[in-house]
Amino acid sequence: MRKIAILGSTGSIGTQTLEVVRANQDLQVGALAAGGNVELLEAQIREFHPSLAAVWTEEKAKELKMRTADLDLRIVAGMEGLLEVAEQPESELLVTAIVGMIGIRPTIAAMKAGKDIALANKETLVTAGHLIMPLAEKCKVRILPVDSEHSAIFQCLHGENAGELHKILLTASGGPFRGKKREELKDVQVEDALKHPNWSMGRKITIDSATLVNKGLEMMEARWLFGVEPKDIEIVVQPKSIIHSMVEFVDGAVIAQLGTPDMKLPIQYALYYPNRRYLPGERLDFGMLSQITFEKPDMENFPGLRLAFRAAEAGGSLPTVYNAANERAVALFLDRRIGFLDIPELIERCMDAHKVLQAPSVEEILQTEAEVYEAIDGMCSRDRIS
Ligand code: NDP
Repeated sequence: MRKIAILGSTGSIGTQTLEVVRANQDLQVGALAAGGNVELLEAQIREFHPSLAAVWTEEKAKELKMRTADLDLRIVAGMEGLLEVAEQPESELLVTAIVGMIGIRPTIAAMKAGKDIALANKETLVTAGHLIMPLAEKCKVRILPVDSEHSAIFQCLHGENAGELHKILLTASGGPFRGKKREELKDVQVEDALKHPNWSMGRKITIDSATLVNKGLEMMEARWLFGVEPKDIEIVVQPKSIIHSMVEFVDGAVIAQLGTPDMKLPIQYALYYPNRRYLPGERLDFGMLSQITFEKPDMENFPGLRLAFRAAEAGGSLPTVYNAANERAVALFLDRRIGFLDIPELIERCMDAHKVLQAPSVEEILQTEAEVYEAIDGMCSRDRIS
């Protein structure tokens, strides 16, 4: 029996992780943490019987206590609550399916408590990879990627000699606006940006896929996970998302991982690594696949990806600025307060204004995040920028 804890159990990755648990008798849930969706969290608690649950505010904690008064359950709140879930002694692995840099401290706490991490929360590696990867080594815990591209790379590298890796070929669908020019992107609406061609995901990451910022964040995540430089990661647009990523070795051999777009595969692989389990669902039908096409990414009309390479190459606190500016800008776009093209524009303005700190501490990362949020709110105090 393997007991796991989940941060962000009510979200897209969280609920799919619970689907994997539901299908496997030897997985158990020790603790669940959510933000504010108490109704769904209650249903999850009744089905999976964790002994600990966390929500973000005291008010939500009170509501959850009332709803679950008949159960033997400890309920906690705030960052202290997230840390308690992360460190829960009986869980051996933590799934980080929360959105944003709020995931950094619980991830560190879980590693220090000796837990393996099934990592979906890419923001943690993007902003604090220089702290997380050495800590994982020191604590002798594993960081198991949940992001489908990173899981693909991880699978391609299984059993290989890391020193023989030449480059990573990170695939991208190109998002719903692939092929469009800046002029055509000026007036796109939230609804258009939320229509991902292949994957069903949370709202924030779906917008990030439309701007190609998600690919930028994934490139930064990959550099830390696999110990490579940004220049050793090539983005390859493969619109149907059949190839989930590839690696090229020093002898020129390329190995790819293919599959249907189902996040349960990488989630399950992380939960059972290094073993594989049967996973029901659709399979690739090569008789139906007429062609797999490739393109170069369009960094001119989608500057979010170009800015990611700039942030990764500078390193230090610049990836935090990139990520925080994007988070705030996406929230404003979802609120219809700024336009689609304002997202990369705001990221670039914040990056230009920032004086890079080398090897920032967690406190400096969170301080940088707060400063960037404040700067963007200042720039957008009018209805619409630019
Ligand atoms: P969702 O928006 O669907 O879910 C986010 C989860 O985090 C929810 O459970 C939410 O709770 C919870 N949450 C938010 N704020 C807090 C808080 N303050 N305290 C506790 N819990 C909180 O996101 P996704 O599942 O799409 O993404 C999660 C992470 O995984 C992101 O980093 C994303 O980039 C990454 N990822 C996602 C993929 C996907 O397919 N969705 C693919 C690869 C990576 P509530 O709803 O109750 O407020």
